Amino acid sequence: MIKFINVTKQYAENSVALSNINLTIDKGEFLFLVGPSGAGKSTFIKLLLKEIEPTFGKILIEGTNITKLSQRNTPALRRKLGVVFQNFRLLEDKTVYENVAFAMEVINASPREIRRQVPKILGLVGISDKAKFFPHQLSGGEQQRVSIARAIVNNPSLLIADEPTGNLDPETAWEIMRLLRQINRRGTTVLMATHAKDIVDMMKLRVVAIEGGNIVRDDMKGVYGYED
Ligand code: ADP
Ligand code: ADP
Repeated sequence: MIKFINVTKQYAENSVALSNINLTIDKGEFLFLVGPSGAGKSTFIKLLLKEIEPTFGKILIEGTNITKLSQRNTPALRRKLGVVFQNFRLLEDKTVYENVAFAMEVINASPREIRRQVPKILGLVGISDKAKFFPHQLSGGEQQRVSIARAIVNNPSLLIADEPTGNLDPETAWEIMRLLRQINRRGTTVLMATHAKDIVDMMKLRVVAIEGGNIVRDDMKGVYGYED
């Protein structure tokens, strides 16, 4: 469903962030993206989100070459992608329910659909009892659950998680991993950039390692492979 074909990203003359990347991610996969700081992980994610454009090559999402996509069609692409960040990025002046509902409002879902879908998703991520709370009233793990709810409420085909456990204690991190795996088992492809060695080593899923803009490893049931 996702294909990077000879993708190079060069920010400036002498800085190649990604160098001739070829990678296929199949529907339903769970893939860890690892590598040292500065390796090119964020660049990879920004290219998928079409926040930046490749210097060379093309990127296909469900057969669509997103590098050819016009401005007008970019929102339709973004709808296929859900994103979760390390620092949650919730709207502080909205409740849990409103944060998730808002993601549906911006794609013009009907009020009826929103009333039906939001409670369902809050239940799925295990946070129904906090629907009326504001983000600052929640623990970090709970805030991450809300942010995951927001990311999946419009049924994306790909969930991108950028260091989703980076701000969580180990126990809470595992709870979030259990949730991501559960969402993955329901059919959503998951791409997770991470420095969480224990998690990657325990889960035995696909691991793609990038170093200096090159893919240096791509293993099914891979390991983290760094000591940091
Ligand atoms: P990672 O997410 O793995 O830490 P990045 O994708 O952020 O790596 O960075 C890859 C390389 O590209 C690094 O050498 C970084 O300095 C460079 N880079 C990232 N963003 C920019 C930018 N906006 N302008 C110039 N160079 C950049
Ligand atoms: P954790 O054990 O994950 O660190 P916290 O101790 O932060 O969690 O919070 C424990 C519980 O108390 C959570 O369910 C959270 O929703 C609730 N809580 C935390 N802070 C507040 C607050 N300011 N107002 C209301 N409830 C809160």
